[in-house]
Amino acid sequence: MTLDVDGVASSVRHELESGVQGDVVYPGDRGYDRVRAVFNGMIDRRPLAVVRPADTSDVIRCIEFVRRHDLPLSVRGGGHSVAGHAVRDDAIMLDLSGMKAVQVDPEARTVRADPGLTLGEFDRATQAVGLATTLGVVSVTGIAGLTLGGGLGWLNGRYGLACDNLISADVATADGQLLRASAQQNADLFWGIRGGGGNFGVATSFEYQLHPVDVVLAGGLSFPLIAAPQVLRFYDDFVKAAPDELSTAVSLALNPTGEHTVSIVVCYCGPIDEGEKVLHPLRTFQSPIVDWIQPLPYAALQSANDERFPSGRLHYWKSGWLPDLTDGAIETLMQFVAHMPSSASSVGLQQMHGVASRIAPSATAFPHRAEQYDFLILSQWSDATDSDRNVEWTKALFQAMQPHLEESVYVNNLGDEGPERVQAAYGDNYSRLAAIKGTYDPDNLFRANQNINPNPFVERSDRVPRRT
Ligand SMILES: Cc1cc2nc3c(=O)[nH]c(=O)nc-3n(C[C@H](O)[C@H](O)[C@H](O)COP(=O)(O)OP(=O)(O)OC[C@H]3O[C@@H](n4cnc5c(N)ncnc54)[C@H](O)[C@@H]3O)c2cc1C
Repeated sequence: MTLDVDGVASSVRHELESGVQGDVVYPGDRGYDRVRAVFNGMIDRRPLAVVRPADTSDVIRCIEFVRRHDLPLSVRGGGHSVAGHAVRDDAIMLDLSGMKAVQVDPEARTVRADPGLTLGEFDRATQAVGLATTLGVVSVTGIAGLTLGGGLGWLNGRYGLACDNLISADVATADGQLLRASAQQNADLFWGIRGGGGNFGVATSFEYQLHPVDVVLAGGLSFPLIAAPQVLRFYDDFVKAAPDELSTAVSLALNPTGEHTVSIVVCYCGPIDEGEKVLHPLRTFQSPIVDWIQPLPYAALQSANDERFPSGRLHYWKSGWLPDLTDGAIETLMQFVAHMPSSASSVGLQQMHGVASRIAPSATAFPHRAEQYDFLILSQWSDATDSDRNVEWTKALFQAMQPHLEESVYVNNLGDEGPERVQAAYGDNYSRLAAIKGTYDPDNLFRANQNINPNPFVERSDRVPRRT
């Protein structure tokens, strides 16, 4: 394609604009900087054009357009991936954030949801009828990227991950087809999209199983960092023996008064009186600085973390699975957290528990099925001149934690860390994912992501057969 000075030749602009009903935004247009921006302020990329589809047919037309002109494509759901793959220099950015339809079926306890919804928008619709499903723990995150990578949230112990609650999805594939992926239709694709990210096509609609969830017993306990050895050892034993209804997380951070703290956040999604009994030992084994555990509307818990993650800050994250909170791991965390360069940063441990941990590793593309913690160093700061020291501190802590971490990592926490880390995110499931990629996207059109290469060694006849 011939590009003019603004990026896209006018004849090609005309073809793109007349093909889609939604907006197309170019460099220089009002709103261009807003629509190309993603959550992580470290990402400053300039796409050739941002296509904001009105509906599924626009998505398919956009896929056909980029294929015809051999243009790179990136796909944005909620824009919250820290790696920033939703936007790419000199590419067409398919921004799904305007597609927000949501249809709840209270009788069947299911919901069909568009890919532009945030968790908060999704919860608002399902909570109106007292239903919910596992998503994540910050309500401004997008459902699309979160679900396609796994989706670890407050209900994982009782109901599994977000991807475990997926009943079906509609996927626009590289050849311009719209396929339904479910246990009955295109089962290989359905297996792949439950953890394999956006590698196989653009998900234009998700159908989830919902569960009765209304008021939960939730909130947090905070202790001074100095108490971390006793607190975290007790916590580790306690949560591993806890019922599925309890899902928890830990955060090591600075509190608003400038004190380093270790906090435990809990969500018990069973009957409140039973939850009170379950949580009693955790609430009484030591005196916390704060105990704000109380019956809370589920949606209130879902947005309780939001203000700690405003869009546009500079972020650098490192992550891995932590099986146990050993003395050595706790000591390392304490040493580093005491010298955290940014007061906005934190170290998080999100518990994978119960139902989510018992599903077979090969049942979906998401392989990390064990009682363990998603260990995540969430460095964030506002001044670009502080970037080097924040990145260095994050890398140093991650390095120091190596003896305690598994090699594997949750794909949705990855930055741009290279193909070996993507393979580590999938372990034994990688070769099956590569074969499915070879079936649905053999030319790797969908490569602005944690990329699975179509397996060059699989003969076409050996590929997973395609069913429509
Ligand atoms: C503040 C914050 C809190 C978080 N908390 C949690 C949490 O509690 N639990 C958890 O599991 N994760 C959590 N995450 C990680 C989150 O799951 C990922 O960042 C995820 O990618 C967000 O999805 P998104 O749609 O907002 O992102 P985007 O950046 O829009 O998308 C990420 C990638 O997904 C793909 N993609 C997106 N939409 C589609 C689509 N419709 N079809 C095909 N491919 C698509 C694209 O490859 C895209 O590059 C959190 C992230 C942040 C920033």
